[in-house]
Amino acid sequence: MKLGCHISISKGFPQAVENAHKLGCESFQFFTKNPRAFQGKAADPEAAARGRALMAEYGLVAVAHAPYITNLSTPDPELQAISIASLKQDLENAEAFGAVGCVCHMGKHVGEGEAYGMSRMVETINRLLEAYTGPCLLLLENTAGQGSELGTHLEQLMEVRSRVEQPKRIAFCFDTCHAFAAGVYLPEEWEAFVAHAREIGYWELLKAVHLNDSKFEHGSRKDRHANLGKGFIGEAGIAALLRSGAFDGLPVVLETPVKDEAEYGPEIAYARSLLQRDA
Ligand SMILES: [Zn+2]
Ligand SMILES: [Zn+2]
Repeated sequence: MKLGCHISISKGFPQAVENAHKLGCESFQFFTKNPRAFQGKAADPEAAARGRALMAEYGLVAVAHAPYITNLSTPDPELQAISIASLKQDLENAEAFGAVGCVCHMGKHVGEGEAYGMSRMVETINRLLEAYTGPCLLLLENTAGQGSELGTHLEQLMEVRSRVEQPKRIAFCFDTCHAFAAGVYLPEEWEAFVAHAREIGYWELLKAVHLNDSKFEHGSRKDRHANLGKGFIGEAGIAALLRSGAFDGLPVVLETPVKDEAEYGPEIAYARSLLQRDA
């Protein structure tokens, strides 16, 4: 696996690549734009090329993430149009920056019911992939099931993919905190969970992992990340996930709470130590 963390691109993409490298990352995630806004800037081609050259030099893999406010299931036609335009730009930026894909959370049905939320998500994705025709993959992320969030279970993510017009352009990002909080797996049953995920064809479509501990207990449906080993997944749980081999070949990025990006350095080192320590 390629361990890394979320990195700010507020000082430009090439600087983000430098910062990731300095922290000991082998992969990193960045927001395509301000995570709480729909409007953003298109990637500067010159900065993108410089950043990509640095990534190649350092052997870094990048994962893009769309703004949190994007709701693929929004019933509001105006908001849906804005979301599609916004996500089109996210995919374009992710492509320009050479990311393996652009992560977007599963939709929220906001009271319209699950069936509606699913159909609406399929429709939004169809329109998005008509508007954006480039090679960047849309990576759907599993959720904790907070509020009206869809996509706690892998089956539901697979269903969305099977229902869209261009399924080959959809792959997945797995968040360890979200799935735990959603009550989808227990660390002590991790191997069986991964075996099931392989069986339904989910695991082979996995392009990125978010490695987070959970501030709330199993099944709480609360999306609050904790630092590795400090939450309800715990040190033994995180170690079991890391050592299972399930993440082989994948970018595995931390989105744990930090006051300063520099704190990720020791936390990535800690993850590596869990991987190497004898069970
Ligand atoms: Zn995540
Ligand atoms: Zn989260």
